[in-house]
Amino acid sequence: MKWSPRVKPIKIRRLYRAARLGLHDDDLLQTVGWELYGRCADIAAVADVYRDGLVPCPQCRTKVKRRIDPLFHASDGGTHENWFHCPHCTARLLWRDCREFLRESPRCFDCHNLLSGTEELWCSCGKRWDRKAYHRSVKARVRLPCPRCGLMIRKPVFESKEQVVRHRRSRPEIECPKCQAVAFHVHGNIECAVCGYKRRWRDYRKSLKKRDERLECASCGHSFRWQAWRKSARSLRTGNPRPAREFVERWPKCRTAKARMIQIDRLLQALHGRGALAPLFIVGAARNIRQMLDEFASQI
Ligand SMILES: [Zn+2]
Ligand SMILES: [Zn+2]
Ligand SMILES: [Zn+2]
Ligand SMILES: [Zn+2]
Ligand SMILES: [Zn+2]
Repeated sequence: MKWSPRVKPIKIRRLYRAARLGLHDDDLLQTVGWELYGRCADIAAVADVYRDGLVPCPQCRTKVKRRIDPLFHASDGGTHENWFHCPHCTARLLWRDCREFLRESPRCFDCHNLLSGTEELWCSCGKRWDRKAYHRSVKARVRLPCPRCGLMIRKPVFESKEQVVRHRRSRPEIECPKCQAVAFHVHGNIECAVCGYKRRWRDYRKSLKKRDERLECASCGHSFRWQAWRKSARSLRTGNPRPAREFVERWPKCRTAKARMIQIDRLLQALHGRGALAPLFIVGAARNIRQMLDEFASQI
């Protein structure tokens, strides 16, 4: 993947030196601004990959869908943690969805036909339930039909949050080799709560080295490895892509030299004080860039 280079601090210094004298060197502003723009666009594109699972082809930049759902690896907590896939139709579900589906349209637990009645529910197969008893039963059951395909699925078992976080840190992407849902490393095994897959961790690790996620571009036919792509994008990856996204959106709309200077300054201020972020945009060590940005901040 060919990425835009980081911007050299010397150019940025010249910009601020001119600004201090009340001058706006528009050529320089354009140069620095578009360099920052290229870099920001790449940072935003890489963030999109981790958000949407669509990887730009290194040859033609067409977006190629990963087979692994990136949201399963997002560490932002909440309901993501409890998502799982139907092993039959791969619909992404929460167990709650399965319950709510039956609350709205009760079905027979045995033959899965729609039930008739309101206070008393009955099935064409002869089974009957009191409505309240039926819903109590829905709550307690560990096997319910998938709301999308109607086939029976088992309630997934999740590790406690702490365990999940700990495992994520040591190994952020554990994918069930059978159903591609999120799997866990427990007691020396890899275990998938969705499809019941279980294997010794050691064996799983060995098989993993042979496997590699291969992506193929439908547009140009180029085939590439996700692992290699990820490595090439490592220097562009951040958990805070917002300043980059904002710059990409606003920079092309700047019509005057003054507006351009304001936009560049706004980006640099957003990077200021966020130690690890600035070196993604500007050449140099975090400490040196910070010093430079300190100077600019005192200038304004
Ligand atoms: Zn029935
Ligand atoms: Zn399904
Ligand atoms: Zn473990
Ligand atoms: Zn599985
Ligand atoms: Zn391509």
